[in-house]
Amino acid sequence: MKKLILLTLAVVVIGSILLPAERECMVSAKKMTKGLIVIDAGHQGKGNGRLEPIGPGASSKKPKVASGTTGRASKTAEYKLNLIVAKKLSKELKQRGYRVKMIRNSHNVNISNSERAKMANRWGAGALIRIHANGDVNTSVSGAMTMAPTSNNRFLSKKIISKSRLLSKKVIRAFCRATKAKNRGVYSTDGMSGINWCKVPVTIVEMGYMTNRKEDLKMASKVYQKKMVKGIADGIDAYMGK
Ligand SMILES: [Zn+2]
Repeated sequence: MKKLILLTLAVVVIGSILLPAERECMVSAKKMTKGLIVIDAGHQGKGNGRLEPIGPGASSKKPKVASGTTGRASKTAEYKLNLIVAKKLSKELKQRGYRVKMIRNSHNVNISNSERAKMANRWGAGALIRIHANGDVNTSVSGAMTMAPTSNNRFLSKKIISKSRLLSKKVIRAFCRATKAKNRGVYSTDGMSGINWCKVPVTIVEMGYMTNRKEDLKMASKVYQKKMVKGIADGIDAYMGK
């Protein structure tokens, strides 16, 4: 009996010594794990014209990776701008307490859009952020948009559709607040392989039009890149807070 009392006392004493420290650890661990964000810098050094199904079980096919657009004034290739912004976004998100994984860190890769989605699935992303810039034959068109699946998307679960739509809304709102870019809203589409293969919430950020001289030069500048990064990160914060 005496032994039992002593043992109980020991447990209580040791427990009370350990507990505050443990608690502290738990708090800081919680702070450190705001979730995993996967960033996909759109395109790559060389496009890949081979075809892949646009979604699981789909008969319609699209090129594995399109070549992307080019800056009308800056002459920068879209895949280069995308990676510059993606790397800055990664740094910003880490500073805000997220874990971050990049689909690519260089231009010399060959990863199809469906493969990019599957990587994010495999990693269990809280959100997949696909960074792109837009192009149009009409060079006066400008502004930013995000892309999301429609509510009738046949490849995605209802949960992923609604989460992706919410993520897209939050990101475009915050992006335009930070950059003052023209808000072209959320563009709904079920034709994107990089969305349709997802099992995690996803959005495509079309930061602006590289075919518009003024917007192209803005996106090429470090000052504006900082604003774009802040905007996307604010949108992710707003979404992940939900
Ligand atoms: Zn693109």
